[in-house]
Amino acid sequence: MSFEELNKVPHRRFNPLLREWVLVSPHRTQRPWQGRVEKIQKPPAVTFDPECYLCPGNKRAGGAQTPPYTETYVFDNDYPAMLPEAAPLQFEQAELLLGKSEQGICRVMCFSPRHDLTIPRMTLQELRRVVDGWVEQYSVLGQIPWINHVQIFENRGELLGASNPHPHCQIWANAAVPNFPSRELASFREYRAKKHSCLLCDYLRLELELNVRIVYQNEAFAVLVPFWAVWPFETLVLSKRHLASMDQLSSGELDLLADILRRITIRYDNLFETAFPYSMGFHQKPTDGGAYEEWHFHAHYFPPLLRSATIQKFMVGYELLGSPQRDMTPEHAAGQLVEAGERHYLDRTADRSVR
Ligand SMILES: [Zn+2]
Ligand SMILES: [Zn+2]
Ligand SMILES: [Zn+2]
Repeated sequence: MSFEELNKVPHRRFNPLLREWVLVSPHRTQRPWQGRVEKIQKPPAVTFDPECYLCPGNKRAGGAQTPPYTETYVFDNDYPAMLPEAAPLQFEQAELLLGKSEQGICRVMCFSPRHDLTIPRMTLQELRRVVDGWVEQYSVLGQIPWINHVQIFENRGELLGASNPHPHCQIWANAAVPNFPSRELASFREYRAKKHSCLLCDYLRLELELNVRIVYQNEAFAVLVPFWAVWPFETLVLSKRHLASMDQLSSGELDLLADILRRITIRYDNLFETAFPYSMGFHQKPTDGGAYEEWHFHAHYFPPLLRSATIQKFMVGYELLGSPQRDMTPEHAAGQLVEAGERHYLDRTADRSVR
């Protein structure tokens, strides 16, 4: 049977990275909505907020002083989820109760001194500085002998629990490789053993050939809505070259990484003309010194908005107890992101008011 036939009826799609299934229900997109409606996410309106603990020169809640920084600024989280000095402890009872102490370093990176400057509103040059900051943090933290994994992630928007609107990301570096990348590693390894090639190189080649879920590509990267996407407008950013971490990217490729992140986030903001909330992060090889030739560098965007700036998708009920499920097809979502365009909606409004 053809994919088009399948795509009209309820069906399951396989996620080869996590080796699990997602339920797609395309016939349900017209269902009436009487659920929760969120407030519209407005971008911060001021360049400096005297109350913001991430703005340059301000005092933070814990009493520390944020210096008068002028570019990106990295500091150790005042309320870290893990501590570097944890003693090695292990608890086990009846092979059922298992616990281990975990050593880690948690940092915060302010993208710029400007309180209102989000990634889609940055110039390429400004965003390149952020990218360079990520490479540095990944390398420096990864070289610490007991750190085996570095997770760089951004939670954008109150909807996703971002505690401060000042554009920033977090870096959590710790001894254990977390669940999500561990599962991906197992999938990369199994695929490589079976096919003698890379899961994501093969997947990207296929998607570029089919060209129905690609949102944008430049010379070094492509961004697409994965065939198995769970979140309505979930995307995957893939490097075209097979490499395992951002420190292996050339200077030209780092520019192109900044370029594609800027383009996808502009498209996101344009989609519902809002400061589009998302959780995003990079998946890179563990930093325990292994070669990890099977690993393919990538980034995930997981945005919670469903069909307008005010309607959010919840992962509850069947999704918590059974499998994730979506209504709108990934192909439709990709089409909408393509149509969203790359001129930021706030600039379009500015154009109109000039006239
Ligand atoms: Zn601020
Ligand atoms: Zn690859
Ligand atoms: Zn991943």
